[in-house]
Amino acid sequence: MSTEHVLPDSNTVMYGVFGDPVRHSKSPVMMNAAFREMGINAAYAAFQVAPAQLAAAVNAVRALKFGGVNVTIPHKVAIMNYLDEIDDSAQTAGAVNTVVNRDGRLIGFNTDGIGYVRSLLAETNAGLELHSKTILLIGAGGAARGVAFALAHERPKRIIIANRTREKAAQLAAEVGRIAPCDGIGLTDLADINRVDIAINTTSVGMSPHVDDLPADPALFCGPGSIVSDLVYNPLETKWLRAAKELGAVQHFGLGMFIYQGACALEHWTGRQAPVDTMRAAVVRSLA
Ligand code: NAP
Repeated sequence: MSTEHVLPDSNTVMYGVFGDPVRHSKSPVMMNAAFREMGINAAYAAFQVAPAQLAAAVNAVRALKFGGVNVTIPHKVAIMNYLDEIDDSAQTAGAVNTVVNRDGRLIGFNTDGIGYVRSLLAETNAGLELHSKTILLIGAGGAARGVAFALAHERPKRIIIANRTREKAAQLAAEVGRIAPCDGIGLTDLADINRVDIAINTTSVGMSPHVDDLPADPALFCGPGSIVSDLVYNPLETKWLRAAKELGAVQHFGLGMFIYQGACALEHWTGRQAPVDTMRAAVVRSLA
């Protein structure tokens, strides 16, 4: 491990995130801290790329020999048209959040789902085994999709997907159900389910500025010892997570998924283990 501060020079390899908007992104702070800690001569910046400029931006990755990029809203699906190869992780999620430049060949990965699972295992009960667990996901959007497939690969006892638009829950549950037992329901059906081991909010409900909104009442299906998790990390402790704490449940914060999706991206780029603690500290400092 090196703490040597490497400043950009003639050998610096560029990385970045493509998004629109992108100025709020904490990825540059997190990734540059990681490169410094790893002693790698690389720099990471945020690039505001309008949808009409996406093809040109991807060509710039090739022309300027970037090591890779992250991709965020609104480019996660559209970028698949411009890459040379799509990894299974991105194929299943239907979206790319990480591009690796392997000797001029651009390969798309999705690290959101696996990042979520790594964060859940690292940050909740030591020795957590998912295979005996019943897991509830609230929401059936893009983030839910990646998380649901990554969880399904851990062979849980059952996954329940509850969504405001019930048909979307049913559709996603049918696909995930090819890997692990999975049901899709509407939010109004939540009153009828039994207690679950892990309940995850994958919707944007509760995100700033709507911090007083709850995706559902966790008292319906959680209690002492349940794990209650949120993908939202602005604010860090959402109303959903506060309500869970009052029930005696274990909280799992959305910031962890952000850190670990970045760690997985960094590992694809460098082939080395990511300095997760350094990355987290850099993001937490920038949020303070
Ligand atoms: P998305 O594709 O737009 O999906 C949004 C989901 O939220 C849908 O299931 C939608 O239900 C539901 N929803 C939205 N407003 C609702 C409301 N008022 N009541 C009930 N349900 C509502 O968004 P996404 O990309 O999946 O992102 C979802 C959240 O995850 C965002 O807050 C995002 O910031 C967060 N996220 C966090 C990380 C991380 O690293 N921690 C990574 C990715 C995403 P319908 O289908 O009925 O519209």
